[in-house]
Amino acid sequence: MGRGQPLTIRVPGDKSITQRALILGGLADGESRIRCILRGADPLATGRALRALGVEIVGIGGPGDEEVRIRGRGLRDWQEPEEALDLCNSGTGARLLAGALAAQPLTAVLKGDASLSGRPMRRVAEPLTRMGAAVDYLERDGHLPMRVTGGALSPLRHESAAASAQVKSAVLLAGVGAGVVVEVREPRRSRDHSERMLEAMGAGVVEGRVDGSWSVRIPSPPDRLEPLDMEVPGDFSSAAFVVAWAVLAGRRAPLTVRGVGLNGTRTGLLPVLARMGAEVGVTGRGTAGGEHTGDLRVAARAARLKAVEVGGDEIPGMIDEVPILAVLAARAEGVTRITGAAELRVKESDRLAALATNLRRVGVAAEELPDGLEIEGTQRPLSGFVRSFHDHRIAMAFGVLSATPGCDVPVDAPSVTEVSFPGFWELLGQLKDGGAGGGGGRVGASSAGGRGDRGDAGAGGCLVVAIDGSAGSGKSTTAVAVASRLGFRHLDSGAIYRAVTLQLLESGRSGALESVTPEELSDLAIDVRWRAGRMKVWCGGRAVPEEALRTERVTAMVSQVAAVPAVRAHLLELQRSAARGPGLVAEGRDMGTVVFPRADVKVFLDAHPEERARRRLLQRGIRPQASEIKAETARLTRRDRLDASRTIAPLLRAGDAELLDTTDLDPAAQTEAIVRRIRAVRGGRS
Ligand code: C5P
Repeated sequence: MGRGQPLTIRVPGDKSITQRALILGGLADGESRIRCILRGADPLATGRALRALGVEIVGIGGPGDEEVRIRGRGLRDWQEPEEALDLCNSGTGARLLAGALAAQPLTAVLKGDASLSGRPMRRVAEPLTRMGAAVDYLERDGHLPMRVTGGALSPLRHESAAASAQVKSAVLLAGVGAGVVVEVREPRRSRDHSERMLEAMGAGVVEGRVDGSWSVRIPSPPDRLEPLDMEVPGDFSSAAFVVAWAVLAGRRAPLTVRGVGLNGTRTGLLPVLARMGAEVGVTGRGTAGGEHTGDLRVAARAARLKAVEVGGDEIPGMIDEVPILAVLAARAEGVTRITGAAELRVKESDRLAALATNLRRVGVAAEELPDGLEIEGTQRPLSGFVRSFHDHRIAMAFGVLSATPGCDVPVDAPSVTEVSFPGFWELLGQLKDGGAGGGGGRVGASSAGGRGDRGDAGAGGCLVVAIDGSAGSGKSTTAVAVASRLGFRHLDSGAIYRAVTLQLLESGRSGALESVTPEELSDLAIDVRWRAGRMKVWCGGRAVPEEALRTERVTAMVSQVAAVPAVRAHLLELQRSAARGPGLVAEGRDMGTVVFPRADVKVFLDAHPEERARRRLLQRGIRPQASEIKAETARLTRRDRLDASRTIAPLLRAGDAELLDTTDLDPAAQTEAIVRRIRAVRGGRS
């Protein structure tokens, strides 16, 4: 499909709505059924926390289109968790759960990663303690980790200093949970996803302007919440990146993003785009789970963008879109001024500082204001390496810029986009090539290129299964089992990278990796052979013993070797040549993205880092004690970080790969899930 064709794509489910559906589903009386959830890192962390609280959730780690079922325990019957609840990077998860926990007669500790532990919690904890919950900060005042002891609460009217949907939702959840009247007044109206969902579950919410504030009240809390049955709309904030790309890149035909959530508290970017001169319309309006939905259509030609002034009441409705607005402003005529956005300093990163730093780095004149930014647009080519600051929206905003003509802006840690937009980079790559779409899958990547053209896929009808994932997520065990069940070959690409590493170490070449030449690599004579489906790496005409590939020395070095472009280029054909016979199960980091982008089945495995560490230790016969787990977790996450942040073939989930969270799955269940998927595809092919 070329650049001149109209294009229709979908984006992943809304993060805010997914998070709320999981938590409120856990409080409902009965089973909720949720379709098209976002299977990103944040909702998965919330799901794990809910399970630790005794809420049964089925299907959350399954394929993208699988319905998730949540067996709610009612308003006050969560179980005391045995360990701290780790919300990883999810601010929404931590704050909303704090509210819900305040009404449960139990004690729970909430913790998060370093970035989440740096974000303020007092604004949530303060109203909850006034209602009667006990909140203790375990390390740093006002921050996670934080212990919440809940129980019977008193009614509360809370005057919130900032317009914050998370604070408001936490108080509403505490009130509904404890069965007491609550009211939240905010200076401006913040997002109302929680209110809409509570309404849909039978809790009457009264809203309106009172004494110059926006008031939200639950005057008569219900005895029970009805379970949900809904489809999560596409995330407007994710769609905004695609829309911005279309506006900047100037396609010759319209681009439509289908089935996007159009909640009025989220779509503030649309009037701003109109003021900038971009033609973005809404068609096909509908509703889903109390939320407005529709299709966003970007007109064909490139808009000549004009600078804008944005501030005050406009900001809460587009708070997550400020990063992409800053990038649009960098390409608009004139100086754009964004004010009233101080809230952005306490998001996943200090977004104002991150945006100004990166814009300047690529050659745009940008100034940080105390509560905003001033950006002077330019049409000059922009280039330079930018930092994501571990913030998905910063990474995606500059990814969009990089995918527009005249710009080359590599981002340091592309995998951070997984929290809200799995498959972002593949989709962007396909949009750039003029290829995504057809409107088939949730992310347009799924029907790209047509399944008939298998290009790199196996010869003579070999069915290719690509399994990628983080270190220790269970790839090898699963891939070996799947291959042996079906009589397929198994390709362990990690072993090949390990063999190269071993040779470079032994020949004393590991100190100057960047200067390794293709000739030197050829001289290593790396090869792969199979016996009864089991792969062996050969080197210089000899099989390399398995133990030699798994020494600490090799494991510590392999990610650096694997990041060298010459090494990856050298090994590409060797890996592709493995696709012979009835089928191949290829496992690694870039199987579904680079080596076999047209694989018949793509799976991306992940699991909680500590669980991965525990499994690795057990595999090595070490009893997993706390200190060992901690050290191994650090080693695994360091390797993941290196693998995910390299510029070439990074560890990344392909847009059309199914995410399988194996934290709570045993190897047999993982194998079964993949074999079932392969059989379905094979059935369809024959
Ligand atoms: O899977 P395993 O742990 O054996 O992989 C070792 C290393 O090899 C990974 O951490 C990664 O750096 C590299 N690798 C890669 N691409 C692959 C497979 C492995 O870069 N397809």
